Amino acid sequence: MENIKFNFNDKNVVVTGGASGIGFKITSSFLQAGAKVSIWDYSQEALDVAKKELAQYASQLHLAQVDVTNRQSISAAATSLPWAVDVLINNAGITRDKSFAKLSESDWDAVISTNLTGLFNVAKGLFEKFNGSSAQKRIINISSVVGLYGNFGQANYASAKAGVIGFTKTLGKELGRKGFTVNAIAPGFIRTAMTNTMPKEVLTGMEAKVPVARLGEVEDIANACMFLASEQASYINGTVVSVDGGIVL
Ligand code: NDP
Repeated sequence: MENIKFNFNDKNVVVTGGASGIGFKITSSFLQAGAKVSIWDYSQEALDVAKKELAQYASQLHLAQVDVTNRQSISAAATSLPWAVDVLINNAGITRDKSFAKLSESDWDAVISTNLTGLFNVAKGLFEKFNGSSAQKRIINISSVVGLYGNFGQANYASAKAGVIGFTKTLGKELGRKGFTVNAIAPGFIRTAMTNTMPKEVLTGMEAKVPVARLGEVEDIANACMFLASEQASYINGTVVSVDGGIVL
């Protein structure tokens, strides 16, 4: 699938978890559209692979090893940024799926601290690095369809992703006057390296639940990010854009 053609020539973007999966597609899409992008990701190995794969965009790319649960690493990455920020995509996330009866305290803590507190940490740590003179500042938080509907085996993940929606709506209210829009994207089932390893019958079962009869592609999420980051989306604030083919869990 082709990306919509956007122009972000004079924009600077930070993508957390940008070295793989959905985040990598978001990163490469913004680079292709002319933006400078800083990838903040957990693993140096993944950052090295991403750097190689994005070699043609070397002059637009900045990479930082960041653990979104670690405020010191965020502060160091913010200091190392070579430019002011226009767009933050809070994408890094993990799963530790288990039914509530089996869910451990560490499963709960890990998912809440990465998928919810991590977004607070990054937005807070970058706040002073946003381009003060821009009236087109953007924060885009990646939530999930399960943050809206809940899901069996995902009490920790669904709670964090629902929290992301509350965080988004509140920042949208508080920061609108300061030249920001703050929105969330709630992806449905997206085809990634992880889903590609699932048995074919599981994938077919997932597809059957989606009214448009296919899984989402990483481009679907990247396109929604670019639209929300664009000037044309400047009156969209504090909302959740579902990119899920119409699924209702
Ligand atoms: P991936 O696991 O492919 O990518 C997530 C990225 O985030 C990885 O590069 C990972 O690094 C990084 N990351 C994880 N923890 C941290 C951390 N503490 N600090 C910094 N980076 C971290 O996931 P997806 O691409 O599938 O998901 C991206 C986002 O989309 C997530 O927020 C997810 O919850 C959400 N989402 C995904 C859906 C899907 O169907 N795939 C559906 C709905 C929402 P590393 O690999 O080194 O751990």
